[in-house]
Amino acid sequence: MGNDVISAAVLEGASPLFAPLEQVPCHLPLCAEREWARNAIALIESDASRSADTHMIRLPFAGLSGISVYLKDESTHPTGSLKHRLARSLILYGICNGLIGRDTTLVEASSGSTAVSEAYFARLLNLRFIAVMTRGTSRKKVEAIESFGGTCHFVERAGEVYDAARRIAAETGGHYLDQFTFAERATDWRTKNVAESIFSQMQHEPDPVPEWVVMSAGTGGTSATIGRYIRYRNLATRLCVVDVEHSVFYDCYKSGDRGLTGQQGSRIEGIGRPRVEPSFVPEVVDHMVRVPDAASIAAMRVLAGRLFPVGASTGANFLGLCWIASLMMAEGRKGSLVTLVCDRGDRYADTYYDDAWLKQNGLDIAPYVSAIETFLDHGRFEAPLGGAGFSF
Ligand SMILES: *Cc1c(COP(=O)(O)O)cnc(C)c1O
Repeated sequence: MGNDVISAAVLEGASPLFAPLEQVPCHLPLCAEREWARNAIALIESDASRSADTHMIRLPFAGLSGISVYLKDESTHPTGSLKHRLARSLILYGICNGLIGRDTTLVEASSGSTAVSEAYFARLLNLRFIAVMTRGTSRKKVEAIESFGGTCHFVERAGEVYDAARRIAAETGGHYLDQFTFAERATDWRTKNVAESIFSQMQHEPDPVPEWVVMSAGTGGTSATIGRYIRYRNLATRLCVVDVEHSVFYDCYKSGDRGLTGQQGSRIEGIGRPRVEPSFVPEVVDHMVRVPDAASIAAMRVLAGRLFPVGASTGANFLGLCWIASLMMAEGRKGSLVTLVCDRGDRYADTYYDDAWLKQNGLDIAPYVSAIETFLDHGRFEAPLGGAGFSF
């Protein structure tokens, strides 16, 4: 049989060296998976090359004397949020660790933004993608995931997403990306991350080393990266993390107890968790505050009027920044403050930007809106800011 093939090849003038592989008694393994991985990495790299870095926006406020405010606008990534960076890192991590191959179904537990970004990369690599989310997730995010060819699987409560995602990954022979566990380690903390971008964009500002960077926590990955980077670069900047209602991050920070759990999911999409996520690294956080949801949404609405519509997690970030600014002013300190725009308001038109929705959810934002406006215009930090529901 082997001889027949070789003689046929000789008849056609081809060298017997090119006999079919299965007839070569000893040969190197076929590397289809490695070739797939190389091609996948190249696709992800060329995708990154097509995008520019995100903007750093400086916002002037008449009331904030001696304090300059900067917003790192992570909403301009191709998938609309800071989770674009995380999705790229998680998928690179999976490929480089041999956990993702050409037939792997990707599965994720998400409050939406991460799943949108992962669905984008799954489509880029021609992989199946299943998002596990709570039923309350904003319709816009569900539509975005589906527009990238992803599938959504809904559970009732925030605490159920982890087990459901693990089960679906097992059933499909897929890979659970598990942002809450892997965000901090998949992200390169020394270079090519959001922190490096922030500090290099600040370089030519009047106060190039910010007094504080303020960020909320969902996975905790972004705050971990920023906190580590500040230490690594030996900067004087400090990191304040903002937490929200129904979340256990603040209590964990105060008590050191990583076993804390909550009964309810956060109302602020993207941040606040009912368990202490593995990617939350309190050791690199210099200060934490917890703010009422109505105040976060109020700050979001104020920014919408002065910048562009942002999401509610950005409202929490901005509120935390105002808090730090008020304390700096009280102490006569000057300098720059930085926080992040995590995503835009268009995803929340039928929730945080809908007055009827606020009313249904018992959220009265009006007193906070006027107090925040007063602070930004006149520098007076008045009740209800810093009052009931605020912890620091
Ligand atoms: C994930 C997320 C955050 C929090 O970022 P982490 O790095 O996960 O802590 C904030 N806002 C939005 C909209 C998010 O999706």
